[in-house]
Amino acid sequence: MKWYQLDVERVEQKLHVTSKEGLSSKKVKERQKQYGLNELESQKHTPRWLIFLAQFQDFMVLVLLAATLIAGLLGEYIDAIAIMVIVLVNGCIGYFQEQKAEKSLEKLKELSAPMANVLRDGKWEKVSSREVVVGDVVRINSGDRIPADIRIVKSVSMETEESALTGESLPVMKHATAIRKENLEAGDQVNMGFMGTLVTRGSGIGIVVGTGMNTVMGQIASLMTNTKKTITPLERRLAELGKILIIVALFLTALVVMLGIFQGNPMYEMFLAGVSLAVAAIPEGLPAIVTVALSLGVQRMIKKKAIVRKLSAVETLGTASVICSDKTGTMTENQMTVKEIYLNGNHLYVTGDGYDIHGDYYLNDRKVDEHYPNLENMLLYGMLCNHAALLIKKGKYQIDGDPTDGALLVAARKLGLKEIDGEKFHLIKEIPFDSDRKRMSVVLEDQNGMRFLITKGAPDVLLPRSTHVLNGEGRSVLRKEDTIKIENSINSMASKALRTIAIGIRPLSNKDSLDEAFLEKDLTFIGLFGIIDPPRKEVKGAIAECRQAGIKTVMITGDHVNTARAIASNLNILPTNGLVLEGHQLNQMSQAELEDVIDDAYVFARVTPEHKLKIVKAFQSKGHIVAMTGDGVNDAPAIKASDIGISMGIAGTDVTKEASSLVLMDDNFATIKAAIKEGRNIYENIRKFIRYLLASNVGEILVMLFAMLLGLPLPLVPVQILWVNLVTDGLPAMALGLDKPEDNVMKRPPRSPREGVFGRGLGYKIISRGILIGLVTLIAFMLTYQNNPDNLIYAQTVAFTTLVMAQLIHVFDCRTENSVFDRNPFENIYLVLAVISSLLLLLVVVYWPPLQPIFHTTALALRDWMFIVALSAIPTVLFGFKK
Ligand code: ADP
Ligand code: MG
Repeated sequence: MKWYQLDVERVEQKLHVTSKEGLSSKKVKERQKQYGLNELESQKHTPRWLIFLAQFQDFMVLVLLAATLIAGLLGEYIDAIAIMVIVLVNGCIGYFQEQKAEKSLEKLKELSAPMANVLRDGKWEKVSSREVVVGDVVRINSGDRIPADIRIVKSVSMETEESALTGESLPVMKHATAIRKENLEAGDQVNMGFMGTLVTRGSGIGIVVGTGMNTVMGQIASLMTNTKKTITPLERRLAELGKILIIVALFLTALVVMLGIFQGNPMYEMFLAGVSLAVAAIPEGLPAIVTVALSLGVQRMIKKKAIVRKLSAVETLGTASVICSDKTGTMTENQMTVKEIYLNGNHLYVTGDGYDIHGDYYLNDRKVDEHYPNLENMLLYGMLCNHAALLIKKGKYQIDGDPTDGALLVAARKLGLKEIDGEKFHLIKEIPFDSDRKRMSVVLEDQNGMRFLITKGAPDVLLPRSTHVLNGEGRSVLRKEDTIKIENSINSMASKALRTIAIGIRPLSNKDSLDEAFLEKDLTFIGLFGIIDPPRKEVKGAIAECRQAGIKTVMITGDHVNTARAIASNLNILPTNGLVLEGHQLNQMSQAELEDVIDDAYVFARVTPEHKLKIVKAFQSKGHIVAMTGDGVNDAPAIKASDIGISMGIAGTDVTKEASSLVLMDDNFATIKAAIKEGRNIYENIRKFIRYLLASNVGEILVMLFAMLLGLPLPLVPVQILWVNLVTDGLPAMALGLDKPEDNVMKRPPRSPREGVFGRGLGYKIISRGILIGLVTLIAFMLTYQNNPDNLIYAQTVAFTTLVMAQLIHVFDCRTENSVFDRNPFENIYLVLAVISSLLLLLVVVYWPPLQPIFHTTALALRDWMFIVALSAIPTVLFGFKK
C-alpha cells in the first residue's frame, strides 16, 4: 500500500503520531538520529587544497615562478627563495580571503533557509525545514514551499503548483481522502503534498511521510544540474577591465625590459625585474578583493537585519531611485486594533490598544454591552470567519495568523466572547482571503443543520454583493440611502487612517450550490470594522532620509484610498500636488498612460498584486531603478521584475523570498533605507581600493619606465617590487574595504547604473596621483644616486622607501572624493593599523641586517627620512590643497 491509498488514521498509526498532538520532542530527536536531516544531498565542495592551489594558477605568477627557478639554477639563491616566499604568502592571503568570502556566503544561506510550521508536543512551532522528520505534523499556507513529502490530513481550498515535479503548471486541488487506485503518478496523488512544490492557495495540514532523499523530489534531485556560481555585474566588469589592464601592464613592462636591455643592463636581471613588475602591476586579485568587500558588506547588512540573497543586489542597492513599498506591515506595525464599529447606522468606539484584550464599547460616550442589538452577532461572525488564533506568550496577548483577523478576535474578546465551541458550528467550506479578491468567506452549519455563509472583506467589494442590510429593527432591503450612509461611514473611518472591513451573511439552504462563483452574493450587510495599524516610528525619518538621497518612496496598499492617503500624509510621502491612484484607475490606463503620470504618483490604493507589475514597469520605463517589496504569493512576479526585489522575513512567503534579492528580517521599511546606505557605502569602498591599487601600480610602472628612459640603473629590484605588491598594496586596500561612509552618502542622488567603474573623476585621480607617485620616487632615486654614484643599494633603498611612503600617505586620500584634509585620518582604525604594520614591516626590511641582503637594502639616516617623507607627501598634499 502507498501512502495516498491509506486513510488518515492508518497513516497516523503507522507513523505513531496523531494529527492533534504531533510528535513528542523525544521522538523527533530519535528520528533525526535515525533518518538524518531533511536535505537533498548538496553538490560536492571543492577540496581546500584545490582552492589553495588555484591561487597560483595565474599565468603571470607561473611565469614568475619559472623565472625564479631559472634564477635559482643560475645561482641567485637568495633572490629565488625570497621571491618564492613572497609568492607563497600572497597565495595564502588569497586563500584566506576566499575562505572568508565563502563562509559569509554560507552563513547567508543558513539565514535564509526555509522554515516549517510543525506541531510538536501539542504546540505549533517554527523550525528549520532541515529538522523536519517523518511523522511530523506540518501546517502549510499559501505561498509556502512544502518542506517534505506529506500525506494531507486537512485541506482548506488548498491548491499546489507541482511543475517542478510533473511539468504541469496548472495548480492541483488537494484534499484529504484516501484514493484506492493502484500505481498513481505523483501528479494524480491529490491527497499528497510533495517536497519543494508550492502552495498557491488556501492552507492545510499534513503528516510527513518522506524526508530528504526519500522524497519524490529526492529521487529526481540527482538528475538536476548543479547551480552555477553567479558573478555580479561589477565583478564581471572588473574582470573585463582586468584584461585591458593586463595588456597595458604587459606592454609597459615589455617596454621597460627592452629599454633596460638596450641601456646595457644584464638580460637576466631585466627579465626578472620585468616579470616581477608585471606580477605587481597586474591587478589580478581585484575581482577577488571585490568579492571579499561585497561579502563583508553583506555581513554588515545582516547586522542591520537585511539579508542579501544575491550578491549582485549589494551593487544594485546603491543605484535605487524608487522604493515601492507595501504599506501594511512594512511602513506600519502590522499590529491591528479595532477602534471603531459601524452597526445599526451608528458608530461605536472601542478602547484599548494593540492585542490587549481589555477595552470597552462606547456609543456617544455611553458604554454599551452585549445587549446592544446585533453587536454580539457581528463580533461572533468576525470570529467564525477567521483564520487567526489569540495566544498568550510571556504574559502578553499575541496573534498567530493574519493580524487583521486577529484584531477581530480581540474585539470579540473585549465584549466577553471567548473561543468558539467547535461542536456548535461545523465548517463546510472556506474560501481563503487573498489580496486579489479582498474578501474571505466561510460556509457553516449550526447544530440545527442550518447553513449560512459569512463573508468579510473590503467594504467596496462587499457592498455591491449585498442586497439587504441589518439594523436595530431587523433585516431590510438595502436602499440607495442605506448605501450612501454606509459609504459615508467608510470614508469617515478611512480618513482617520482606519483600515475598513465589512462583514455580511447569507442564509443558505442545503440545496444551494457551494460553488465559489455563486456563493458570495445576496449578502445581508451587517456592519463595518475600523481598524488602526499605526505607522512604525522609524519610517517617517527613513522616508525623509531617502528623499535627501534622491530616492522616491511610493506607498502601495490594498486598503481604501482614504486610509492610504491619511497614512501617506502622516508619513510625509505625499507632496501637495502628488497623485494618488487607485486600482480601478490603473485598470483603465494603458501602460503608456501610466508612464505619463508615474513620476507624479506617490500612493497606490486598492491595488491588487497584478498592478504592482504594471507600476514597476512604468517606473522602469522612465529610467528608474526600482526596489519593490512584497509578501504574498502573487507579489512574486512584480518582485522578480523589479531591479531589487524585497521580501519580508516574518510575514513573507517562501515564494516571495525566493523571488527576492533582499529579505528584511524585521519587515521594516527603515531596513530598506539602511541596506541602501550600506549598498552605496560598499560601492564607494570598492572604488576607494580600486583607486588606491591602480594609482600604486601606475606609480610602480612609471618609476621603472622613467628610469629606463633616462638610462638610469633599476630603481627597484624585483624583490622590492614584489614586497610592495604584497605589503603596501595588500593590507591598506583591504582596510579601505572596511571604511565608514562619507557624511554625504545619503545626501546625494543615486549613482547612475550606467556609470563606469572609473566614473566621477576616478580615472583622472588614478592617473594624476599615479604619475606623481612615480615622479617623486624617481626624483628620490635620481638625487640620491647622483650624490652617491657608487652606492646603488643606498639609492634603491631610498627609492623603495619613498614609493612605500608615498603610497601609505596616498591611501588616506583615497577615502574621500574631496580633499584629504576633510576627513579624520584616524577614523578607520583598520586602516591606521594596516598602515602602521606596513610601516613596521618596512623598517624591518630596511634595518634588520639579516633581511638587508635579501631585499637589497641598507640602513637610512634621519636626514634621509626627512627627505623621503617630504617627497612622498607631495602627491597627496598637492591635491588636498587644490580643493
Ligand atoms: P494591504 O496588504 O496593502 O493592506 P490587503 O490586500 O491585505 O492590502 O487588504 C486589502 C483590503 O482587504 C483591506 O483594506 C481589507 O478591507 C480587506 N482585508 C484585509 N485582510 C482581510 C482579511 N483577513 N479578511 C477579510 N478582508 C480582509
Ligand atoms: Mg495584507
